[in-house]
Amino acid sequence: MKLIYIGNEYKYDTEAIMKLFLPDRHFEFEYGGGLPEIGTNCVRAPDEYAIMRKRVLREHILLYVIAGYGGKREKAVCRLPLSEEDYCSERLSRLLYEAMSRLTGQTSEWGILTGVRPVKQVRRLTALGMSRDEAIKELKAQYLVSDKKCRLACDTAAVQQPILDDLESRRGKAFALYISVPFCPSRCSYCSFISQAASGNSVKKMIPPYVDNLCREIVFTAEIMGRLGMAPDSVYIGGGTPTTLSAEQLARIMKTAAGSFDMSLVKEYTVEAGRPDTITPEKLKAILENGCTRLSVNPQTLNDDILRGIGRAHTAAQFFESFELARRVGFTSINTDVIAGLPDESPESFRATIDGLTALSPESITVHTLSIKRAARLGAGDEQRSNVMKSPAAEMVDYAAETLCAAGYRPYYMYRQKNMVDNLENIGYVKPGHESLYNIAIMEEVEPIIALGAAGSTKLIGRDGRMIRIFNYKYPADYNAGLELMLERKKEIEDFYAAEK
Ligand code: SF4
Repeated sequence: MKLIYIGNEYKYDTEAIMKLFLPDRHFEFEYGGGLPEIGTNCVRAPDEYAIMRKRVLREHILLYVIAGYGGKREKAVCRLPLSEEDYCSERLSRLLYEAMSRLTGQTSEWGILTGVRPVKQVRRLTALGMSRDEAIKELKAQYLVSDKKCRLACDTAAVQQPILDDLESRRGKAFALYISVPFCPSRCSYCSFISQAASGNSVKKMIPPYVDNLCREIVFTAEIMGRLGMAPDSVYIGGGTPTTLSAEQLARIMKTAAGSFDMSLVKEYTVEAGRPDTITPEKLKAILENGCTRLSVNPQTLNDDILRGIGRAHTAAQFFESFELARRVGFTSINTDVIAGLPDESPESFRATIDGLTALSPESITVHTLSIKRAARLGAGDEQRSNVMKSPAAEMVDYAAETLCAAGYRPYYMYRQKNMVDNLENIGYVKPGHESLYNIAIMEEVEPIIALGAAGSTKLIGRDGRMIRIFNYKYPADYNAGLELMLERKKEIEDFYAAEK
């Protein structure tokens, strides 16, 4: 499909709108030039196209969209005052949404909000002095968000607010610490992360030097943060599946962190024990004894056939055993992740997963919606991808919301990704008092993140909201070979905060 831009280059936002309606299409982009003649004598317009034009006139800005699809053509037009030029991209996106909606008969529950963080929009509106009702009205009018999603975003924002206030009280003194362990026992078919399957010898051999290097980076970075007078208030050891490592390796990493950083501000310490097939009593004890306060054990689904289909080498029974083991060892805050929209999962099967988890009563349940990424095995072919995208995920997500809220959970953080089935969202549901500080801090971008290990992405936030990122090598082999450069890059943290003083 051809997207033609005249007088503007608002490709990013408008392409995201087109993908809501035509997720499988490949788009070609054309910029500038004269206005194509679209009509009976048309020679330039292809069968499927969208022309997006911006004209700055003497008294106003004229925006219009002409879209052709399925043998039909739709037009949408608006005028903006010259003072509102900053809103042109948003308004053009809206016109495109309206035209495509009429052409396809489809709408999206999130309207033209295609970005990652809808809750940020709510916070922006309430910071302008709007009440909840006014914010909902604005989200519906400007962004065409459905009533249900407006309420969800506002409920989530309300649960977050006291935690954001608490984070604000430590601004300039605290940061979130992320430690990456990018190894897994095997690779899930939907995974697009760089995690390495530790089933082969070459990856197994990489792990001991990786742990050595990670410990060096921990000590080096802790010295920098100590000089800056900053300390972590949350720690997250994620991956991958950190429990792919041995109990001794996990204990060594955690002891090194505890012995290097000032841990006096730490309010939450999470370890992802994502795959039940990696969990042993020794590992859980090592994690708990070394300061972990929050554990994640993830079934994704309680349907064994689906688990096999997505390449997870564990059963639902193994998940229940691991969960009970974690309780016996002494974990009092456990998160469990599930995914709505997995291939071949029916609404009944998903409901059984939600009911099974609700009965188990973990402190939080995170409901993801499947997202199909290029780097994943799943959806690699067009036909398979198209089948996956037809999943009844919206029905599943609605069931999860109703059931979990009725059981005393409430939504506390939310984010969206590209290419999610049904353009839905990922939502963390939690029992009051167990909201993850780390998840809120990183999703709402209110606290610096110091990220260590392969694929770590450090994000520094200045007093005026200025942000910079410092990237580590993505793959463990590169990280092992290039640690010195990673350490050199970490010195930028000191430069950044020195400039703030
Ligand atoms: S457990 Fe997570 S990181 Fe590991 S392969 Fe599966 S989806 Fe990827």
